Amino acid sequence: MKFSTKLIHNGNDIDKATGAVSVPIYQSSTFHQFDLNNPSQYEYSRSGNPTRNALENILAQLEGGTNAFAFSSGMAATSAVFSIFSAGDHIVCCKDVYGGTFRALTKIFSRFGIEHTFVDATNLDELKNAIKSNTVAIFLESPSNPLLKITDIRGAVKIAKEKNILTIIDNTFMSPYLQRPIELGVDIVIHSATKFLSGHSDVLSGVVITADKQLGSKVYAIQNGMGGVLGPQDCFLLIRGLKTLKVRLEEQQKSAGIVANFFENSGIAKKVYYPALDSHSGKDIHFSQADGAGAVLSVDFGSGEKAKQFMSKVTLAAVAVSLGGVETIVSYPVMMSHASIPKPEREKLGITEGLVRISVGLEDVYDLIDDFKNACE
Ligand code: PLP
Repeated sequence: MKFSTKLIHNGNDIDKATGAVSVPIYQSSTFHQFDLNNPSQYEYSRSGNPTRNALENILAQLEGGTNAFAFSSGMAATSAVFSIFSAGDHIVCCKDVYGGTFRALTKIFSRFGIEHTFVDATNLDELKNAIKSNTVAIFLESPSNPLLKITDIRGAVKIAKEKNILTIIDNTFMSPYLQRPIELGVDIVIHSATKFLSGHSDVLSGVVITADKQLGSKVYAIQNGMGGVLGPQDCFLLIRGLKTLKVRLEEQQKSAGIVANFFENSGIAKKVYYPALDSHSGKDIHFSQADGAGAVLSVDFGSGEKAKQFMSKVTLAAVAVSLGGVETIVSYPVMMSHASIPKPEREKLGITEGLVRISVGLEDVYDLIDDFKNACE
């Protein structure tokens, strides 16, 4: 079955009890046990809920994993994955990881004895050299946020397998429509499902998909034990959003390419970061492991003043944190998504005062370009 068919027909499309063509919202915290000696599939919604179960089945199929787990946010999902490790374990993480992940590792999990080293994961030698005897996992984002840097996922997986450690990737920017890391050998995939998976900026959610059942049991123990589950209403919204993932992303990606070319050719920007541009150093690797460049690009306007002018003058885009919605969203990494990374480290990464991230939505792309031109004048 092709991906777009799987988005619609995945075994959860017809409710077995009623024939309903959308998954019912089982808004129940607990479930009556008809026979105490034979507990039914559902007992209590933290441990399992039919709407969440349907969503998790869909996600496992789309990413090609054995198990999926839905959490109350992307950070709850990422934190659940870190929580499968123990004090004394060490994680090698890509440097320009999402700011919240950086904060979780440096400010929270470090207090519980989980060690970390940040590396430029585009350099596989650096990645390999950072692995120590207590390293348990490599944590990646490709394309990374906000500079869309590309890691050779197969190369990283090869290193991890040689060292008998796990590879974990945050696949938020791509979604399984454009990149399926488990097919490339990755063990655990994470999403902020708040973004492209739900797609309408109306639900905060996160998901974890595991490549095998043993890892699935570990993540389940955290989901059930720590309890950061996604509620049934939000599961429903996510199931609904997923049905249009392909059509949304196709259109948004097409527009993002046009916007990226506009900025690159107009002379307005100092630098444009988008993996489909010939000027992007990771283009070839990216297209060897993904089916498209996605709908997020970053533009360096050269100064904080110019970036702020752009942000204050755009009218069609929301000036906001987040990405992946049907509406175009522009964000200012130094004050938003990456504010939790200390300034000296941010600057070393190239996350400058002039940098603006643009998540292209479903508006007419030429209206967007007119708006962007006006905002730069
Ligand atoms: N990962 C990436 C790449 C993100 O962009 C975000 C949020 O912006 C997160 C994880 C965290 O997700 P959430 O905001 O749903 O907790």
